[in-house]
Amino acid sequence: MALLQIDREACIGCGNCVAVCPLGALLIEDDIAVVNEACTACGACLPVCPVDALSLPERAPAGVDLASYQGVWTWVEQFEDQAASISWEMLGKGRALADILGVPLSACVLGDNVAHLAQQAIAQGADIVYLAQNPELATYRTEPYTQVLHKLLRTHKPEIMLLGASSRGRDLAGALATRLHTGLTADCTGLEIDPETRALRQIRPAFGGNIIATILTPNHRPQMATVRHRVFEAAKADPARTGSVIEVQVRLALQTATSRLLEFIPQSADARLSEADVIVSGGRGLGDAKGFAMLEELASLLGGSVGASRAAVDEGWISYSHQVGQTGRTVKPELYIACGISGAIQHRAGMSTSKVIVAINNDPEAPIMRFADLALIGDVYEVVPELIRQLRERVEKS
Ligand SMILES: Cc1cc2nc3c(=O)[nH]c(=O)nc-3n(C[C@H](O)[C@H](O)[C@H](O)COP(=O)(O)OP(=O)(O)OC[C@H]3O[C@@H](n4cnc5c(N)ncnc54)[C@H](O)[C@@H]3O)c2cc1C
Repeated sequence: MALLQIDREACIGCGNCVAVCPLGALLIEDDIAVVNEACTACGACLPVCPVDALSLPERAPAGVDLASYQGVWTWVEQFEDQAASISWEMLGKGRALADILGVPLSACVLGDNVAHLAQQAIAQGADIVYLAQNPELATYRTEPYTQVLHKLLRTHKPEIMLLGASSRGRDLAGALATRLHTGLTADCTGLEIDPETRALRQIRPAFGGNIIATILTPNHRPQMATVRHRVFEAAKADPARTGSVIEVQVRLALQTATSRLLEFIPQSADARLSEADVIVSGGRGLGDAKGFAMLEELASLLGGSVGASRAAVDEGWISYSHQVGQTGRTVKPELYIACGISGAIQHRAGMSTSKVIVAINNDPEAPIMRFADLALIGDVYEVVPELIRQLRERVEKS
């Protein structure tokens, strides 16, 4: 049932609300506005009604005692006992938020032999580290990680919980938010503190990137957000920083576990793409899968990784783990070379913060030519081999 309420007596059927509704949830029938199931109660229509005929129901009473929640927390993601760099980015942002709020910053380290990560987390800005070690936590699985973190969050009641939007972070964040009955904003591109209410303003693109939405969690805690890799900077590690490490007793209800690790098959391109300083990406303009062999050659000469547009992935020329964009990876390399990629908004969403963007495209009007730092107009099969030839020459000379 739609949440928007329309006062049929007051409505004059002007259609202002219809024009501003981003979801097409309003229409005029018999000179009166009517709302359909697409309405999400976003409130965009309320200010444009000249006769105050639109309203939203009173919000549900506060779900929790907000004042009893304090502190900023982050999750330190690890794989094979090494921290994922996104964890330090979360700590970097968490530090800034905690300083504004005047509260401690805590990090949660879960694993088996991961005590060294607690010290690293302190060096990266944490005041307190909750260290949970158990063989069942050695490799990430949803259930044991959710059990441990859920208990910690319920006991210590932080006001904010940040996780990296990696595959594991997204999975864990969703499971935790559901169990904690709180909100979760995925893939934030900005996090701010409202100076008046101290609420976390969770900023992210919405409606296919057409608007930037600021999302609040007014009635529930913790305020949870995930952030993609390289959106925020990690703080510079300070080995002299001090903090406290609290060992967590791990008691797992393993009879409820529905998954176990059978085998690990590395998909190294995943990790390389997110961390890469140079990415050579290919799109539909390559024409077939063979084009990627050429891009791999260029990438390896530049010490980089290979990315792709969704079109190339959909064609089956390369695996999804290489996809850059809204539904792929967000990357932020020093150099992004887009070969035969048009630069659709969904692709741009994943690479626009690259330091230098080079586009190789035979269409000077392609959208990517408008935001690339360097536009090479030409056939990829002429430009890329020439680049490879010249780079080889240089490598051989040096
Ligand atoms: C909900 C949603 C999510 C999406 N998520 C993503 C995403 O995560 N990532 C993503 O990339 N897309 C995504 N898309 C798809 C996106 O809208 C585009 O369709 C896609 O990015 C196009 O890929 P492309 O640029 O390779 O292909 P095209 O748009 O077909 O462009 C090919 C380009 O190659 C050029 N070209 C052709 N031949 C040559 C040649 N011989 N030499 C040089 N240039 C050549 C052409 O001029 C053209 O500019 C998404 C779409 C939707 C609706």
